[in-house]
Amino acid sequence: MKLNQNFKNIKESYLFAEVADRTGAYAKLNPDKKILKLGIGDVTLPLAPAVIEALHGAVEDMSKSETFRGYGPYEGYEFLRESIQGYYRARGVELGLDEIFVSDGAKSDLGNILDIFSKDNVILVPDPVYPVYVDTNEMAGRKVLFANATEENGFLPMPDYKVKADVIYICSPNNPTGAAYNKAQLKEWVDYANKLGAVILYDAAYECFISDDSLARSIFEVDGAKSCAIEFCSFSKTAGFTGTRCGYTVVSKTLISDGMNANKMWLRRQATKFNGVPYIVQKGAAAVFTERGQREIHKNLDYYRRNAKLIADCMDRLGIKYTGGKNSPYIWLKCPRGMKSWEFFDYLLKGAQVVGTPGAGFGENGEGFFRLTAFGSEEVTKEAVARIEKLLTE
Ligand SMILES: *Cc1c(COP(=O)(O)O)cnc(C)c1O
Repeated sequence: MKLNQNFKNIKESYLFAEVADRTGAYAKLNPDKKILKLGIGDVTLPLAPAVIEALHGAVEDMSKSETFRGYGPYEGYEFLRESIQGYYRARGVELGLDEIFVSDGAKSDLGNILDIFSKDNVILVPDPVYPVYVDTNEMAGRKVLFANATEENGFLPMPDYKVKADVIYICSPNNPTGAAYNKAQLKEWVDYANKLGAVILYDAAYECFISDDSLARSIFEVDGAKSCAIEFCSFSKTAGFTGTRCGYTVVSKTLISDGMNANKMWLRRQATKFNGVPYIVQKGAAAVFTERGQREIHKNLDYYRRNAKLIADCMDRLGIKYTGGKNSPYIWLKCPRGMKSWEFFDYLLKGAQVVGTPGAGFGENGEGFFRLTAFGSEEVTKEAVARIEKLLTE
């Protein structure tokens, strides 16, 4: 037996372990100090009441033979795919029901989708980035190129025709930088992909945080995207499903290469390796799209938006440059006084007992930057902001 040698090439992810170690060590030495965490990338508000009701109802269905469900369709129940179809239609995007695939979350699909692509494809990933894109490709032995996301381009790299990519990852609004592409910029990526015969893997996990109409919530709002893009969505950040697990992926039927149809291949892949998302969870997810569900999830999203604004306003007052905070739960700031990411981490921890995430952990271009998140409670966010402001104006 020989194990997958590619695992030797995957970088160990020290980021969150190192954050926990340093925070733990400080807490041990300073047991009287209250540490405030603005580093979390997980939601904190509970599920919306409409979702809870639907989950309860679905549990009841499972208790009676007339409504009991066993294996469901690989691509998800029609009731949920119809709701998703309606959600897109409201934004002017027409999708076939057979172009929507329900999954247990965007992370799984982002990794699993690689099954349908050739191993010798050239992969283009922005730097800094959500680590899943790089690691999943390296596990499969693929070569990864990076597109530099920097202060100069507002952390939104644009296509470079000298680079011949086959698979392009875009995450907008972005984790970790909070930066979001507008429609004209996305059109440039779509044109590039169509010209090269490349595919864009579009991670829209944070689409629901967009409030600015010039930004696309879906890449399919851009002309030409159906022949070059696959979109990954999730209920995790939208509706607090990080622990409940549900997402969906849109693979258009017109995404074709060498006579092979990506939509058919993805269905075949799912049918082979996946037996679907629990009926109960899909019922909960469908409730998100009801009028009441939308009202309730937007109440939660507004709560996070207010936190993001508290942090962003503080950065404005301090004259610290940042991206995000507006159409994103993340504030990606330039470490003040020329500090490096980990240097600023220690400075904030010791000086204000506030924990964030060092940008250097997301890629080389993240050095000198720092991520704060809006997913904490309002109380914690307010206190953290006050402490940061005090520390940096001393
Ligand atoms: C949170 C997140 C996801 C969602 O993953 P799930 O598996 O659906 O919970 C996807 N992409 C990015 C960039 C994220 O930050």
